Amino acid sequence: MSKEIPYKIYLEEQEIPKSWYNLRADMEKKPAPLLNPGTGQPMTAEELSGVFCEELVQQELDETTPYIEIPKEIQDFYKMYRPSPLVRAYCLEEKLQTPAKIYYKFEGNNTSGSHKLNSAIAQAYYAKKQGLKGVTTETGAGQWGTALSMACSYFDLDCKVYMVKVSYEQKPFRREVMRTYGADVTPSPSTTTEVGRRILEAHPGTTGSLGCAISEAVEVATTNEGYRYVLGSVLNQVLLHQSVIGLEAKAAMDKYDIKPDMIIGCAGGGSNLGGLIAPFMGQKLRKEADYQIIAVEPASCPSFTRGKYLYDFCDTGMICPLAKMYTLGSGFIPSANHAGGLRFHGMSSTLSELYDQGLMEARAVEQTEVFAAAEQFARVEGILPAPESSHAIKVAIDEALKCKETGEEKTILFGLTGTGYFDLVAYEKFHNGEMSDYIPTDEDLQPGFDAIPKIPGIQ
Ligand SMILES: *Cc1c(COP(=O)(O)O)cnc(C)c1O
Repeated sequence: MSKEIPYKIYLEEQEIPKSWYNLRADMEKKPAPLLNPGTGQPMTAEELSGVFCEELVQQELDETTPYIEIPKEIQDFYKMYRPSPLVRAYCLEEKLQTPAKIYYKFEGNNTSGSHKLNSAIAQAYYAKKQGLKGVTTETGAGQWGTALSMACSYFDLDCKVYMVKVSYEQKPFRREVMRTYGADVTPSPSTTTEVGRRILEAHPGTTGSLGCAISEAVEVATTNEGYRYVLGSVLNQVLLHQSVIGLEAKAAMDKYDIKPDMIIGCAGGGSNLGGLIAPFMGQKLRKEADYQIIAVEPASCPSFTRGKYLYDFCDTGMICPLAKMYTLGSGFIPSANHAGGLRFHGMSSTLSELYDQGLMEARAVEQTEVFAAAEQFARVEGILPAPESSHAIKVAIDEALKCKETGEEKTILFGLTGTGYFDLVAYEKFHNGEMSDYIPTDEDLQPGFDAIPKIPGIQ
């Protein structure tokens, strides 16, 4: 007999996970290793530690330890804003008149406004523990930069953020939040780095891209004593830290004997989705349970649905290690009218491998339908969602409406990754009818594919 399910299922503070779950430990076929672009050989811990913090390198390379203990300092920080609520979307269900049961895990309840703080605090902690002066990073829409600024100020570390120029100009408020937390924010591409100057020369007037900002941040980290580079998505270590989302969601659902049929998340670099699905995918890999898992991406940046599964650079400057992933090519820059985030050209190698094995699906959606779903959600559930998160909302609504047709009472869980208060320029465009959909043609995508490196003996 099912218990009465409350609107919000909270965990007690002591039920916040004390370990992260490393999904790779349960994968029979592991994600492909990062390669050194110079030699074509797997990156060693030593090579990686020139760019990343030592303990994070260990986590990056660890594909056998299923549970990794969360240090006490990070657990304490998590207590300030976690556990995040798991919400039963009764109002949305009512509005849609669907027999489906919809749940969402809301990660927007902190000043950074998204799930990114879960990994930022971990990465800042390990940088501090190593005795570093500071860290460098890139940020697109600004959520990661904000999260990292908060984490760095907590541990008293210097924080240098390269912010994609178009966002820097469109989102001055995010920039100020970062500066409030003491970060140094530079629009990218900039003249402060070699690679930035090179990109500006080749593409004058470019509005920037995440790949380009990554190149700048890596250059600064590797040429300044006492600095390392940190990344807010894509990497295995980030998926590991984000597993706290899925572990909490599963613990909350288990309390009421709820088992989702379907788990939906937006996918930029794959960190929130990788974190949300982690314990569920673990069960699926161990053949203990089955779930339908759907990644949702923008039709204007369709890495999963139209990308190629190949080794590629993570950055435009081609200085980072090569990762095997679904990619549109490191030179790909989404159309300037794309306002919904999730702009990265590639995808987490762990999720790419799971997708390649047919263990999860992907869908691409267009931005006007995403904002329409966002608005519909905001009006009944109260929360103003981030455009990124709204990709997941769109597909959750679609699936709930399918249930209405078939009469199936499916249980849907989706990740509501953040709030959209800093995305109101995009909302304004939508409300003014000035937002258009843009789906790149095959010809548009070809130059990106052409630039994917050929690696002798590998691809
Ligand atoms: C960064 C971000 C995303 C996308 O990143 P993933 O690594 O794919 O999770 C999604 N939603 C919000 C609110 C974000 O800030």
